[in-house]
Amino acid sequence: MAEDLRSLLQKLEEKGKLTRVRREVDPRFELPAVLKHLARRGQTAFFERVKGSRLPVVSNVMGTREMLATAFGTTPEGVVQKWIDGTSNPIDPVLVPSGPVKEVVKIGDEANIDELPLVIHCAKDAGPYITAGVVVARDPETGQRNVSINRMMYRSAHETGIRMMPPQHLGVIQEKAERLGRPLEVAVAIGNHPFEMIVAATTVAFGQDEFTLASGLRGEPLQLVKCETVDVEVPACAEIVLEGEVVPALREPEGPFGDFMQYYVPVMNNHIFRLRAITHRRDPIYQTIQASSTEDVHLLALSRESQVYEAVRRTGAKIKAISLSPTILSCAIAIEKQFEGEPKNVAAAAFGAYRWLKYCVVVDHDVDVFDINDVWWAMATRSRPDKGSFIMSDAMGFPRDPFNIHQSKIGIDATAPLGQWQEFERKIVPGADEINLEDYL
Ligand code: MN
Repeated sequence: MAEDLRSLLQKLEEKGKLTRVRREVDPRFELPAVLKHLARRGQTAFFERVKGSRLPVVSNVMGTREMLATAFGTTPEGVVQKWIDGTSNPIDPVLVPSGPVKEVVKIGDEANIDELPLVIHCAKDAGPYITAGVVVARDPETGQRNVSINRMMYRSAHETGIRMMPPQHLGVIQEKAERLGRPLEVAVAIGNHPFEMIVAATTVAFGQDEFTLASGLRGEPLQLVKCETVDVEVPACAEIVLEGEVVPALREPEGPFGDFMQYYVPVMNNHIFRLRAITHRRDPIYQTIQASSTEDVHLLALSRESQVYEAVRRTGAKIKAISLSPTILSCAIAIEKQFEGEPKNVAAAAFGAYRWLKYCVVVDHDVDVFDINDVWWAMATRSRPDKGSFIMSDAMGFPRDPFNIHQSKIGIDATAPLGQWQEFERKIVPGADEINLEDYL
């Protein structure tokens, strides 16, 4: 049985990482408000009853490193290596005759976006947004598949906005179709395993099929099914698929939307998606992602962490763990330091490997890079701000930057001096990590 969103939810529930919300919630603000609390507790949220829809909603399936590790079948520290191994060995996906996502097929007027839980995530969002849609399209010139995640603003029962912009691949492909005067056929799969979600959020070479990476991560071909009304294929085990087209030469105002940096992107003229069909499971689960949540950060971080990890390893440094957190502009790297000064080389390699990186803190191997408090503890107790840090001015950084605040970088050596380990050995409470608190209550 191939892994999908459902099998992951089952694993998370068995580990006590999933909370079922039984009270009916309003998808307008109330659902994201409850979600925020559950995310803080490190829980996946499963909303059984959502006002105005018969579909349950799930969110925060990869909001913690443990969840990500569960999805990847490894440890929190092992996720990056698993990503590197899986994506370095791409496998072609396989077309199968049918799958669960075809249990219900609705074409034309029968298909209706209003059936979905229309989640409004933030106070100033322009309306409900589909935020966890894996968009599949085909290059009209080469026929090659592209997979991406694009926000979609609800407009009506048969229409949404869809944000895409070159050099993002979907934008490039749509431009090609538009030049030919053609609509771009797309399918939007909702309710996916993190493998498909994360590869969709990853920048790969133009023309490379992101689903070959998802298959590589699975160690076997991802099963795809043909769509009913568009010439693309979607994961057979998705929960819901919207089929339709991006209308050529049409843009309408879209936004504001609370984005991945916790700011609102302004209203812009963006593309329009027109629905042709919906297929779904008999009892579909709708998935949503709160932009800028830790789940969203993980979605965007993993491929970038891997990029940095490999660059740092090539310097000869013994890297133990890396985390881009709490945003993808900041990172902590744990190493087993071999030479004084090495942390600066490590930070420089990180900046070279990943342009958007702005803060890079290098810590010793006894520091938990997934715990921001621990990283700050190391900075406060082990770093020397005057000698142990360096600033790069006028470097390339995050491009949407009208105030020029992302075009410089700081690397911080927060490691203890070599050979002084007896002075810097952390105290521990023996057994604290092994205790099961429930046994004492
Ligand atoms: Mn692509």
